[in-house]
Amino acid sequence: MKVTLLRSAVDDGDSIPCQYATSFVINGSIAVDAGCLGFVGHPDDQAKIKHVLITHSHIDHIATLPIFVENAFEGKRECVQIYGSDAVLTALTQDIFNNRVWPDFVALSPPGSPAPFMKLHQIVPGQPFQIEGITITPVEVNHVVPTTGFILNDGKSSFIIVSDTGPTEEIWRVAQKTPNLKGVFLEVTFPNAMERLAVISKHLTPNMMAEELKKVSPTVPVYAVHLKARFRDAVASELAALKLPNLHLANFQSPYEF
Ligand SMILES: [Zn+2]
Ligand SMILES: [Zn+2]
Repeated sequence: MKVTLLRSAVDDGDSIPCQYATSFVINGSIAVDAGCLGFVGHPDDQAKIKHVLITHSHIDHIATLPIFVENAFEGKRECVQIYGSDAVLTALTQDIFNNRVWPDFVALSPPGSPAPFMKLHQIVPGQPFQIEGITITPVEVNHVVPTTGFILNDGKSSFIIVSDTGPTEEIWRVAQKTPNLKGVFLEVTFPNAMERLAVISKHLTPNMMAEELKKVSPTVPVYAVHLKARFRDAVASELAALKLPNLHLANFQSPYEF
């Protein structure tokens, strides 16, 4: 599987090495989260993404979903498939696609429509489902709103997108039983000095991340994502100071092959 962490910051020259929002693209056709999905790449490439999995309802993970759905719309019988927990789908329908913030694309896509915009699918933590030959297992993590991480397995290898979380257990328990685990994308949001804020908002600091990594095999590479842009340099140097050989800062726009 080919996994790309999309960049979310742009300027007139080189890309600013900051992450403002979260989106991953897998094999060019599946996305996890839509924080920046609708702002990256040509609409023709966005239209190749047929499935979007949403981990939770926070704006840095759904901000460009309405833009993406519009960009990907081709006026055909096939349309974008969106997957989320009951809590995620409720937030999307009540707070985004509500005819105030954006048109109600659900009502505009009735069953049998010749040109639907999108279709919603409810997922349940612990219940795997299949998309394009990949088995996806949603696992609940520990965040301030209901949040699911995803374990993706194509039969040859597996990787995990944990999403936003404070200290958590279940996804590591499932990880131990996951065959051919080749990589983990794990959040680390605040520097160590802001641990109180991390605890309140259910995120991780580098020190808290180090505790989480004791629950993962040290042979599995872990890629740090979701560093708060304002404190990126501080978080990055605190991560480096941990001197954990399997811990890396995730790169933007450079695909990981698992
Ligand atoms: Zn969040
Ligand atoms: Zn977030």
